[in-house]
Amino acid sequence: MDLGLKGRVAIVAAASKGLGRAVAEELAREGAEIAICARTPADTEKTAKAIEASTGRAVLWQAIDVTRAEDVQAFVAAVEKQFGRVDICVTNAGGPPSKKFLEISIEEWRAAVDLNLMSAVFFARVVLPGMQQRKWGRLITITSMSVKQPVDGLILSNSVRAAITGLARTLANEFGADGITVNNVAPGYTLTDRLEELATKRAADAGVSREKIFEQMSASVPARRIGRPEEFAAAVAFLASERAGYLNGTTIAVDGGWVRSLL
Ligand code: NAD
Repeated sequence: MDLGLKGRVAIVAAASKGLGRAVAEELAREGAEIAICARTPADTEKTAKAIEASTGRAVLWQAIDVTRAEDVQAFVAAVEKQFGRVDICVTNAGGPPSKKFLEISIEEWRAAVDLNLMSAVFFARVVLPGMQQRKWGRLITITSMSVKQPVDGLILSNSVRAAITGLARTLANEFGADGITVNNVAPGYTLTDRLEELATKRAADAGVSREKIFEQMSASVPARRIGRPEEFAAAVAFLASERAGYLNGTTIAVDGGWVRSLL
């Protein structure tokens, strides 16, 4: 299937590793112009070079903090300067800490809102006007399976990602007539540093090995295994594509069937 991504300009946020990196690599392989950002300059540059080497496409990179509106604005301006526009914007950030409700400080709640909600708001504010003018755009947010079925021990993620889901659904309504689609992709257990961290924490809390935790995670998934970042990236590439023009305002779980709901 030709996804029609050749020559499209795509931003992938928080993409020095994990799911963001896999998405950037997949879109580059499909022929899109890519710009990535993440916090650490050395890691972000290394990833940009690796994607260039594996796909043969030049990758623009910048080290920014997605919780800072001015950083996001400057990054998007740099992408527009280099490529002329932004067609596809995949918002992403790290995950909030795994803690029990009474252990979480007010500052940690605010930080989670900044990290997982406001970062998406900042990107949407600066990329949507241009997409609206050109009558074509794809805004895709990386959320979590926790939006469909809350995950024990992840109250910050369970709460804040529900807010992004409301944001995306409302943007889909507001910008649908402009040829823009807004969708969320909700990863299930996928092998990245984030999952390794969660497994280490769960193992310490339960007094069992990390291997045991990974076994339990796998057993909870109908597919009986942990997902691979490139499996997640394939769904994002489809949503970003020309072919997905009538897919709007929805959340697609890429979770091996972990969420047990009907819809
Ligand atoms: P990861 O920790 O492997 O990678 C996170 C990336 O975000 C890194 O590139 C990091 O540099 C960047 N980042 C973090 N904070 C940033 C900031 N303030 N500004 C700029 N860049 C920042 O995580 P991942 O597994 O790739 O997950 C991506 C998102 O998906 C996270 O929000 C995570 O909670 C969520 N998620 C992951 C899984 C999973 O199993 N991997 C499951 C559900 C949800």
